[in-house]
Amino acid sequence: LAMLLQPGAGKSELLNSDDVSSYQQTLNKENSAQDSAAKQTFDQTLINLFPKNPLQAMTEENMLQIITFAIFIGVGIIMVGSKAQMVHKILEQTNEVLMYIVTMIMNVFAPIGTFGLVAHAFTGAGFGAIQQLGMYFFIVLLALVIHFFVVYGSAVKLLGRTSPLKFYKEFIPAITLGFSASSSTATLPVSLECTKKMGVRREIASFVQPLGATINMDGTAIMQGVATVFIAQISGATLSFTQIITVVVIAVVASIGTAGVPGVGLIMLAMVLNAVGLDPAAIGIILGIDRLLDMTRTSVNITGDATCALIISKAEERKLATKNE
Ligand code: ASP
Repeated sequence: LAMLLQPGAGKSELLNSDDVSSYQQTLNKENSAQDSAAKQTFDQTLINLFPKNPLQAMTEENMLQIITFAIFIGVGIIMVGSKAQMVHKILEQTNEVLMYIVTMIMNVFAPIGTFGLVAHAFTGAGFGAIQQLGMYFFIVLLALVIHFFVVYGSAVKLLGRTSPLKFYKEFIPAITLGFSASSSTATLPVSLECTKKMGVRREIASFVQPLGATINMDGTAIMQGVATVFIAQISGATLSFTQIITVVVIAVVASIGTAGVPGVGLIMLAMVLNAVGLDPAAIGIILGIDRLLDMTRTSVNITGDATCALIISKAEERKLATKNE
């Protein structure tokens, strides 16, 4: 949708023109490097996923290599088990500390910075800027609505063999709480209650829904995809086909890493922007209008978890029924 409707097309007034031109200079350099990278063979692209030197990958912000390395470390920690408890604890605690610092900055300084940034963009740029931001907002909402009704609706009908109308009706309390709390985790007790009423088996719901509230965030991935395309457009950058695929893959990974609390999806967006060479500072532009989108995508996130729980529960029921026949 973002590629089709182009929310950030045209001369952008949302970013400072000096910023854009200096950014474009670096982008041109990177693009010529990426052009040669794009000509790489498929096996070379795969080989490039693995860092020669993980520390170098981190200093160069090579997201794909960092993720590959992180997956290896994660698998290693699981395989080694109790002997690697210390490493596990250190990583977990480092994550806690970094998340605390980021959240503190986001809560204390980001509102002031965003106010300044958006006020400056609007007074300097006027109606064009409002229009572009409005378009971005509308496209994220539209994509979320389509996902909510079309994707989940047909999954509930075809795979869960349940009436979507009944599903949505039973799930309304969770949807409204998710909307007001903007937190998948906080909504969990109510969403479990709703799926119980729908007849989803307890042992399935109590595994699928908490897992989903932690790692399954379709709404967040949708926002991150649209936001990346939007930021590329207002920065005057064109995303190549490989970059678009990278956005899709990294947005899914970033949404898995997003905690089920308000606003974290936007912090994780930095990872997606970095992966395609865009400046994460541009997140400030959309920060001001993110709250309402956060509320909406949280409702979508938790509905996805309930959809999965329902589908698995119904499939298990059918399996049991044929076994008993
Ligand atoms: N607020 C979202 C949730 O809890 C996460 C996010 O996208 O910020 O599901």
